[in-house]
Amino acid sequence: MKDTQIKKLIAAENKRQKGVINLIASENYVSKDVLEALGSELTNKYAEGYPGHRYYRGTGVVDDVERLAQERAFELFKLNPEEWSVNVQPLSGSPANVAVYTGLVPFGGRIMGMALEHGGHLTHGQKVSVTGKFWTQVPYFVEKGSERLNYGEIQKIAIAEKPVLIVAGFTAYAHVIDFKKFREIADACGAYLMVDMSHFAGLVAGGVYPPPFAYADVVTTTTHKTLRGPRSALIFTRKDKRELNKLVNRAVFPGMQGGPHVNQIAAVAVALKEASTPAFKKYAEQVVKNAKVLADELGKLGWRVVEGGTETHLLRIDVWQNGKGIGGREAADKLEAAGIIVNENTIPFDTRTPKDPSGLRLGSAPETTRGKKEKDFVAIARKIDTVLRSR
Ligand SMILES: *Cc1c(COP(=O)(O)O)cnc(C)c1O
Repeated sequence: MKDTQIKKLIAAENKRQKGVINLIASENYVSKDVLEALGSELTNKYAEGYPGHRYYRGTGVVDDVERLAQERAFELFKLNPEEWSVNVQPLSGSPANVAVYTGLVPFGGRIMGMALEHGGHLTHGQKVSVTGKFWTQVPYFVEKGSERLNYGEIQKIAIAEKPVLIVAGFTAYAHVIDFKKFREIADACGAYLMVDMSHFAGLVAGGVYPPPFAYADVVTTTTHKTLRGPRSALIFTRKDKRELNKLVNRAVFPGMQGGPHVNQIAAVAVALKEASTPAFKKYAEQVVKNAKVLADELGKLGWRVVEGGTETHLLRIDVWQNGKGIGGREAADKLEAAGIIVNENTIPFDTRTPKDPSGLRLGSAPETTRGKKEKDFVAIARKIDTVLRSR
């Protein structure tokens, strides 16, 4: 690279990544092949439209790229293309969710999503996100005490508030979601069910988390978290008489986006193929084992694990402990100084602010990609404990 300034910064970031223990629950490390596709000449091509229906010429090759990405998405998640459509063009998870709402929910209409402090994502209708400005969020919460979903309570809210769409799938929830229950809730109030599997898509692909497809009308996902691809997103839409797929596809293009990032779509295709291998299945199994060990060990060391444990790649710990511990921000700073990268996170019914909350969110995926096993995660838990208790 001739640009020495950027070259230096890339090298510095590479060095930083190699030098830390990364417990960011939404991050991962992609393969060289994914990087190669991202850095390819495919970035030069304009291809507004969809395969076979483009508004630019010279799109024969990129049509093949996009179709291959779609085929691999169907194969990986065992979907019948007669029953599902997949849009591989969303630039990232947030625009994918906004596109679904744009297609299916009239402006001002109600979207029912989990409150941010409880584990929902900004794009599930929070006020600070456009999803809470263009639409109206009906929030739901986890239950006090267990900190888990209480489907009876969610159903009561849904029936009282009659949302147009219900979102299941969160950014900081450590347990398996009962999609069948969410389907029943959506049916009870006549809402669409959208599952946002951004966090656990890689676990679904690896067979260690139940797939949501039998119950959802729409499934969105980022591709860069447990799925271990480039930053991007996919929208799966059920194909039936309602033709929701047409509404969603139109919302992505020409509704929200112009030309797709074809280099990124190619990189997604590479990641989807990687995710269909036995090695990926092993990785996914190890991700969950490692997170469980981390939660168990931190619990033994006296840290309160939110929801009482984990069934996924992530967990939250309460470091504030009602004033007996330290704030989330200070905890994250201390850990960073010791080479452990995490993010501070609210815990359900948090008494502190989102900027300096009571908890930390930890994830096992990136370090599992780097080959770490249970014993390594025991050591990581002990190191976290030592750092947090140091003065
Ligand atoms: C990460 C995430 C998103 C948004 O993804 P971006 O690519 O950061 O825009 C949406 N929903 C959930 C549940 C997420 O975890």
